[in-house]
Amino acid sequence: MPDLTPDEFRALGHLFVDAVADARAGIGERPVRDTVEPGTVRARFAREAAEEPSSLAGFPALVDAVTGDADTRWQHPGFHAFFPANASLTSLLGDLLSGAAGVQGMLWSTSPACTEVEQAVTDQLARALGLPETFTHDGGGGGSIQDSASSAALVALTAALHRAAPDPDTGWRARGVTGRERVYVSPDTHSSLAKAVRVAGLGAAALRTVPCSPGTRSMDPAALRAALRADVEQDCVPVLVCATVGTTSTGASDPVGAIVEVAAEHGAWVHVDAAWAGVAALCPEHRWVIDGVDRADSFCTDAHKWLLTAFDASLLWVRDAAALPSALSITPPYLRDAASDSGAVIDFRDWQIPLGRRFRALKLWAVLHGQGLSGLREHLRGHVALAGELAERIRGHDGLELACEPVLSLVCLWSTEGDAATRALLERVNADGRVLLSATELDGRPVVRVAFGSIGTTRRHLDELWEILIARS
Ligand SMILES: *Cc1c(COP(=O)(O)O)cnc(C)c1O
Repeated sequence: MPDLTPDEFRALGHLFVDAVADARAGIGERPVRDTVEPGTVRARFAREAAEEPSSLAGFPALVDAVTGDADTRWQHPGFHAFFPANASLTSLLGDLLSGAAGVQGMLWSTSPACTEVEQAVTDQLARALGLPETFTHDGGGGGSIQDSASSAALVALTAALHRAAPDPDTGWRARGVTGRERVYVSPDTHSSLAKAVRVAGLGAAALRTVPCSPGTRSMDPAALRAALRADVEQDCVPVLVCATVGTTSTGASDPVGAIVEVAAEHGAWVHVDAAWAGVAALCPEHRWVIDGVDRADSFCTDAHKWLLTAFDASLLWVRDAAALPSALSITPPYLRDAASDSGAVIDFRDWQIPLGRRFRALKLWAVLHGQGLSGLREHLRGHVALAGELAERIRGHDGLELACEPVLSLVCLWSTEGDAATRALLERVNADGRVLLSATELDGRPVVRVAFGSIGTTRRHLDELWEILIARS
């Protein structure tokens, strides 16, 4: 049999689970990031794949031998770089069931379970986040699990393009891109929006960068209004405005409510990108992250960043359940299906770019089941408290300064001794090996970012980080 038997799988599975548990148990003792020369790992492979099979019993040890000194440990409690990418053990158990089911949930009928669990958990999460009922499958909209926020942005843009110029006969726009489509972002909007514009073939002129209100990192609604009007006067079509809640750089937010109001004057789609920050709405004290979202067209937040769910699980909700299928549904004979034709079911293939899709909802369900909303809130609140405490310490320290006010669990700082000192600080801190931070720029100046959010990060790790931050070399 060209596979393990179930009994062989059972035996080996225990070994693999032990290896995972051991690696997690010991992760804090290893450096957050290994230092290696490019090509190190590839050089350990033979040119040709082995002709003969080998026992998998030694595979975890082999993987460790080949890759164990060439990794960046995103699950390390000292990992405070970029944004977190929580891969909780809870979610890994759900992911195991998902991989085992091995279904392609492209149509409802190709796995009713895959489709309906996804509908149920995205509805539950919409309610837990305080999203309006219109974003639920029960309420005429609905959520889906995409591979990433970047894909979510592309999907939203595709739907927006369709809505801006539907073809009455074919459904889909027969004319194609006219070169007059316009998409509005702020200087701090994630680069995935610019990529979506490229992938959609809209051309560089389609991307309009609206300035921020003076002294802020938030899109200026008055400037947006002026840009929209000027474009409409030039016969351009405002297709989509992206409002960000919690930018990747500094955690700043655009004024969603005001943006929705301005966009509505010209019928532009509003996509809210809250990839990192959106999950904080689970906590009533952080509900501000969904202010104004009720009238947006789509809302995205990543469960795979700060919500304990292993990559990939980007949640995309739309207010109109027909919006994505209208733009994306194509039905060749080999996908024709009686349940689909009945209109009584959702085919999630029509909510995304690829056809096939995994049973991603299982890992999210496992997280909801195993942690409960209370556990998720505790996870989020712990990191927000660490950020508050770090900010307090920085305020009381002569050598360091907050580059901007902390947002949720993100703290941006620089040295009071200038840009060169800030760059040196980042280098020195990361060379220590116990923590990993990343950088950004604010008003042209280098900034050190501390994004708390890794699963095991506790007060002890804050103390450790602080000790490293303030140590003099
Ligand atoms: C991380 C991030 C993204 C991209 O997320 P992926 O899921 O990795 O594609 C988009 N927007 C914002 C604001 C982000 O922080």
